[in-house]
Amino acid sequence: MQKGQINVQAENIFPIIKQFLYSDQEIFLRELVSNAIDATSKLKTLSSRGDYKGELGDLTIDIILDKENKTLTIKDRGIGMTAAEVEKYLNQVAFSSAHDFLKKYKDEANIIGHFGLGFYSAFMVGETVDVNTKSYKKSKAVKWSCSGEPEYIIDDSDKKERGTEITLYISEDSTEFLEKDRIQGLLDKYCKFLPVPIRFGTKTEYYSEGEGEDRIQKTKEVDNIINNPTPLWKKKPAGIKDEQYKAFYKELYPMSEEPMFWIHLNIDFPFNLTGILYFPKLGNNLEIQKNKIQLYSNQVYVTDDVKEIVPEFLLMLHGVIDSPDIPLNVSRSYLQSDSNVRKITSYITKKVADKLKRLYKKDTDGFKEKWNDIGVFVKYGMLSEEKFYDKGKDFALFQNTKGEHYLIEEYLDKISVKQTNKYDKRVLIYTHDEKAHHSYIQSAENKEYDVLVFNHIIDNHFIQHLEQKLDNVSFVRVDADTIDKLVETDTEEKSSLDEKQTEKVKGIFTTAIGEQPGLNIELRPLSENDHPVMITKPEFMRRMQEMQAMQGGMSNMFPETYNVIVNSNHNLISERLLKMRDAEKKENFAQYLIMLAKLNQNMLKGEEMSEFINKSIEFMK
Ligand code: ADP
Repeated sequence: MQKGQINVQAENIFPIIKQFLYSDQEIFLRELVSNAIDATSKLKTLSSRGDYKGELGDLTIDIILDKENKTLTIKDRGIGMTAAEVEKYLNQVAFSSAHDFLKKYKDEANIIGHFGLGFYSAFMVGETVDVNTKSYKKSKAVKWSCSGEPEYIIDDSDKKERGTEITLYISEDSTEFLEKDRIQGLLDKYCKFLPVPIRFGTKTEYYSEGEGEDRIQKTKEVDNIINNPTPLWKKKPAGIKDEQYKAFYKELYPMSEEPMFWIHLNIDFPFNLTGILYFPKLGNNLEIQKNKIQLYSNQVYVTDDVKEIVPEFLLMLHGVIDSPDIPLNVSRSYLQSDSNVRKITSYITKKVADKLKRLYKKDTDGFKEKWNDIGVFVKYGMLSEEKFYDKGKDFALFQNTKGEHYLIEEYLDKISVKQTNKYDKRVLIYTHDEKAHHSYIQSAENKEYDVLVFNHIIDNHFIQHLEQKLDNVSFVRVDADTIDKLVETDTEEKSSLDEKQTEKVKGIFTTAIGEQPGLNIELRPLSENDHPVMITKPEFMRRMQEMQAMQGGMSNMFPETYNVIVNSNHNLISERLLKMRDAEKKENFAQYLIMLAKLNQNMLKGEEMSEFINKSIEFMK
């Protein structure tokens, strides 16, 4: 037996390890299982190179929980270690790297992955840690033991099997790691796709035997293998069937609806990256589910917080990314400036854009059908990433009230004859609510204008963005003005009222409206087919007001503003109203027309609505 001290210069790091990232204690299991995987992979490599001639045998890694003796054991059949290697790797290399790691990151709150603590993370939960190991080389087995003090013991061992067995004597304050469910949960989280089979005891499997009436349910105990060692993303994309992609999605997110489509990432230069990104059905969902992409490093789960690696708009996607080239044990601010990470980010962006373009080209109709689900994502991308905007023009669609879809350029061509105004701007007319704007849309369509549907919260920003990006284009909501003014031209209808009559009508309406701030009255010579009175919401003021509301601003810098447009060419104005003698009747009549206009804009509420109904009943008498 030999006693020794781990690196005498170092102060005792065990208490620090114990406290270190208390909330992240659980990573010890990932670290130890990763080491077991490494040891197994190394053996496989040696064997395939012919440097190891013995049998490989069953390489399954075992996780053994012994609640009674309060131990947790990780047992592999990998390369193992000789006594000299234990001395070198555990007492020097592992210790000093753990020490360096702690020194560097003690004060850093945000660490992604927390990789690098390695073997010594065992002491976060283990009071004593035993390592019982036998190398693949012809040498004696050794046992190393350390109980949370700098002293360790190395002794001969009677271990017969090749490989390493690490036993943690779980400390009093970490007894949660003696619970089967807790360990199963951790293995599911961190080890689900590790490349070597990992067994955690056994589980009961149900099956049936016999035919027809003789059929009976039976159970049997089978190995509880917790991982899928060859996950789909590691396979070559060629030859993988759609069904396999869908099945893998189910494996990742058992409760989710089927994805729309996916992108298989597979690159090895200038960095190594594999993965599958799935497009979920987003619909008009405002609550975008983030943190659905899982990050792996060589099949070891690292985190589902991939903000720094994946551009913001791609966080809506689901799936996995696996890259050993993403530095995992560094701070976020570093990650953001890391050129490798930036390259990865722009690579992913490009791949996603290319895929969308291909989908659009290959199956334009199918793409249009899915637009409702893809649209939010594409718009978000075009808003937030310059490069994606450029590519997005090849597949971003506008949808009109007739349910037709057009690429942006296609659409501008389509409307340029009818909807170019006198300042040479193409005016794109839109609605955010086809039902609410029904009559406005109808009058636009009567004039052979086309009306687009923009009904997602992101559309406000998207419209704003397009106005900046596209030349000579402006958007107006279909109720922003009367139909003659939506697309401004030089031709003007002639009013059937003379100046005196105009003043008179204006006077009647001013009295009828009374004191209502934000309401402006205007007379316009519209057509006989247009309503006698209409309410419009000027585009600029409405947008300002929406923006103010969105920012939760309390200040009333932009109060709601409406224009009450009186159609001077409408018979009810030019004939009926002007011919009325009784002042009260005139006012009543005007008020009623205003109420109708408000009703059309869904602005009649409460008391005013009751008044309107009463007035209507009165008229019918
Ligand atoms: P890292 O794995 O990052 O090198 P660790 O502290 O986890 O650092 O481990 C230090 C070294 O100890 C490893 O590089 C390896 O040589 C050795 N080691 C750890 N666990 C095992 C194991 N299960 N089998 C064989 N060698 C191991």
